Amino acid sequence: MSAIEKRSRQEWQELDKNHHLHPFTDHKELYEQRSRIITRADGVYIFDADGNKILDGMSGLWCVNAGYGRQELIDAATEQMKELPYYNNFFQCAHPPVIELSAMLQEVSQPQFNRVFFAGSGSESNDTIVRMVRTYWDLMGQPERHTIISRDNAYHGSTVAAASLGGMKAMHKQSGLPIPGIVHVDQPYWFGSDQSLSPDEFGLAAARTIEAKIKEVGADKVAAFIGEPVQGAGGVIVPPDSYWPEVQRICDEYGILLISDEVITGFGRLGEWFGADYFSTRPDFMPFAKGVTSGYLPLGGVMVSDRVADVLIDKAGEFFHGYTYSGHPVACAVAIANLKLIQRDQLVERIHDDIGPYLQQKWAALGDHPLVGDTRMVGLMGAFELVKNKSPLERFDDKQGVGGICRDHLIANGLCMRAVGNTIICAPPFILSHAEADELIETAWKALDLTQKTVSA
Ligand SMILES: *Cc1c(COP(=O)(O)O)cnc(C)c1O
Repeated sequence: MSAIEKRSRQEWQELDKNHHLHPFTDHKELYEQRSRIITRADGVYIFDADGNKILDGMSGLWCVNAGYGRQELIDAATEQMKELPYYNNFFQCAHPPVIELSAMLQEVSQPQFNRVFFAGSGSESNDTIVRMVRTYWDLMGQPERHTIISRDNAYHGSTVAAASLGGMKAMHKQSGLPIPGIVHVDQPYWFGSDQSLSPDEFGLAAARTIEAKIKEVGADKVAAFIGEPVQGAGGVIVPPDSYWPEVQRICDEYGILLISDEVITGFGRLGEWFGADYFSTRPDFMPFAKGVTSGYLPLGGVMVSDRVADVLIDKAGEFFHGYTYSGHPVACAVAIANLKLIQRDQLVERIHDDIGPYLQQKWAALGDHPLVGDTRMVGLMGAFELVKNKSPLERFDDKQGVGGICRDHLIANGLCMRAVGNTIICAPPFILSHAEADELIETAWKALDLTQKTVSA
């Protein structure tokens, strides 16, 4: 029996307005429009309280990779709740779900990863990494080595440490971030540059801002570099091919730890198990969250390489860090079922060989629309940018809010994608069928036509 009352849309909206503070939300704006109440979901579709059926082109928030309504995930949670709904992994305890999941994660990740530390979210995972990185260098006898390099416009979460690692100026402005010891360099965003360099030249130049920062800070003070293989919340910034090999070279040359933030790209999004596999990097840490449970329950964690884990185990004594919900048994059981489902249905291969190329080709054709200045997509993670004029390139004034106009037309026509400034971003569930991909593209084109009408009116 459901614990939730039956109420009308208006009743939900009223209670929501009166009692609920939303994440990343301008509440005055929200109260003018009222919240969209999502009541149920199935496959790749969500349904709102008015019964509207909307294709979820964002997999919730980049997480419902297996799609909605998967019985095996529901069963895994139910069974585990009956068996052992909670127990901690402190005080020399463990339980079967956390052990089994740890072993599975070792199997699907690169050979340097044999151990995992669990958290409840991506943000917590990145907080864990800040503490592990600094502890590692302390134990290595280099306590000066505490600075972590990140990138402008990066997103690594919302806790104090994770938001500091992130490179979002608006987030830093509220509440005095970043914390000391975190510095930022350029993002590899070719389309957003003046385009005077070729993409490959630009990728090298962006990577070399890391090297310049290492020299500025002092090579003996830099602990680590963190990056998302493809920047997600920042607008799906796909780096030029030259970028990651150069980042790896720089990390190797200066001996600094490489952190590949796999919270979005982990577990198949790019058509490989991890973004590090897609770009052939060899990271020392991989934070993950979102897709590990397909979002059915909150779970995060950090894959820790032997380079770091061996030192922590050997020298740290007790590492004074952990969360009540580190390795929550029900979340772990759902993650196991989710990874088995991804393996059984060969969803990673499907993105690599089938639905990935299929959607990418149609997505690229959106570039023929007069409003679309750039399209990009790897695996099932893409974006297009709305421009005023393509040649010569002329961008819309941000104040015009063209991205938001387009997003509203998309939703009104049954497709949920997000606007980041004037960039529309897309990350559909891995189970998207060809027919659903066709629907996604047709709706996007229709919304682009409507946006053009609104903008020129
Ligand atoms: C969403 C996200 C996070 C934060 O994860 P939460 O579970 O929201 O705390 C961290 N890194 C990346 C790349 C993300 O996209």
